[in-house]
Formats: sequence, C-alpha cells, structure tokens
Amino acid sequence: MNSKTPCTEIDLERGLRESGIREELVQACKVLYAVKAAGDGLGGHLSFRLDEKRILIKPRPVSWRGLKPEDLIVIDGNGKRVDGAAGERSAVREWPIHAQIYAARPDVQCVLHAHPSASTLMAALGIAVEPLDQDCAAFAGRLPMLDNGAVSIATPELGDEVARVLGKGGAVLLKNHGSIVAGADVAYVCVTAYRLEKVAETMLRAATLTKLPVMSPETSAAILQAREAVEPGAGSKMNQERWQMMRDYYL
Ligand SMILES: [Zn+2]
Repeated sequence: MNSKTPCTEIDLERGLRESGIREELVQACKVLYAVKAAGDGLGGHLSFRLDEKRILIKPRPVSWRGLKPEDLIVIDGNGKRVDGAAGERSAVREWPIHAQIYAARPDVQCVLHAHPSASTLMAALGIAVEPLDQDCAAFAGRLPMLDNGAVSIATPELGDEVARVLGKGGAVLLKNHGSIVAGADVAYVCVTAYRLEKVAETMLRAATLTKLPVMSPETSAAILQAREAVEPGAGSKMNQERWQMMRDYYL
C-alpha cells in the first residue's frame, strides 16, 4: 500500500505540471498569433518537451487563437502520437524540427516553427540583420539561415540539418519558408519570436528607404562589442517580465 503513495503523488505532480504547461502553451499560441509571429496562423507549430520521451505540441488543424489546452497532442521522438488515436501524424507534418532540436539540445524545452511574413521575406531576400536598434543588435550576427530548397522538414535527416544550423543559438531562418525559435522556456521563445519579426520589419523598412548595408562595418562592430559587454545582466528574468507584459497586452 505504502509503495503506491509516492507513485500517486508523483503522478499528481506530473499531472499538475503538465496542465500548467498546456495552459501556458495555449496563452503562447494566442499571443504569437496576435503579434504576427505565427504568420497567417495557417501553418506552423509550438511545442514543449514534457520529458525525454514526450513532446507536447500544437497540431496544425487547430487555430492559434481558438486552441484549448486539451487540443494539444503528445508525440514521441519519432513523431508518433502517444496520447490518442494513431494515424494522426500528418497533423504535425514537420515534427522532425521539434524532435531533432530536442535531441541535439538538452537545454531546449520549447520550440516554435512558423511562417511569419517579414522574417520569411527577409530570409528570401538574403538581408542580413544590422544593429540598427537594440532589438536588431540582439540578432545581428546571430541569425543563421538554412537554404534547403524550401522543402518541408518532414524527415529526421532534414530535422538534424536544422539542429546543426541552429547550433547553440536561439533562432534560425529557413530560406523561402519561415523561422524557428528554440529556448529554455516559453517566455524566451515568445519574446524572441516577437522581437525577430519586429527586427525583420525594421530591416525590410530600411531596405525600402536606403541601400543596405546602412552601417559601416566599424559602426556595426562597435555596437556589437558594446552588446557583449552589457548582456550578462539580461536574460531569463527580463524574458519573464517581457512575457508577462505580452500576455497583458494581447490576452
Ligand atoms: Zn513550415
């Protein structure tokens, strides 16, 4: 009898944790859609690593705005649904983006893949981010791009390629396709995805007003050097604050 008690408590704790994660992912989907970081809302997915074997993910047929906690599905590292009817794998066609990043990056708990219009166009035009403002400075020189002929990332091999190009970073662009943001928590992913789309809008606007690059290599280098000096103070706490503000504005 006693041996069952801890198990029940662990199950309860696990259930509470999972329902909290489901709730936060639903909030994230609504906010990401509202700030256009989820593109037109017709493609893409947001996921969270529940444990070594299970990934909680938004399936494609459910809208980013109308999603409910129970609409999220659980898949394993092979893209197979493990919490319900089999045969619904096609609902998350590009599952290898998530599975292969989680496999390669133990520090990553949350992954977003979407087709936001400004980021996608910036990548298609091959525009490199310049440190025109503080948001741009956060991405300049840290935004790799994968050019794989715009194929869907529907195999583990293609997912591995994404993880390789992402490296230790937090975002990667897919040329003629979209973007991926990966990080330690939902706050990081939402804040980074929001800033990335804003940065892309800034760069595209700059491209309509002047010839790129706007800045001299010396000016860029000086700003990026200053960035390295101040950044250790930022990080997780700031993302949590910003994520709370985003929920405040958009939920
Ligand atoms: Zn896609």
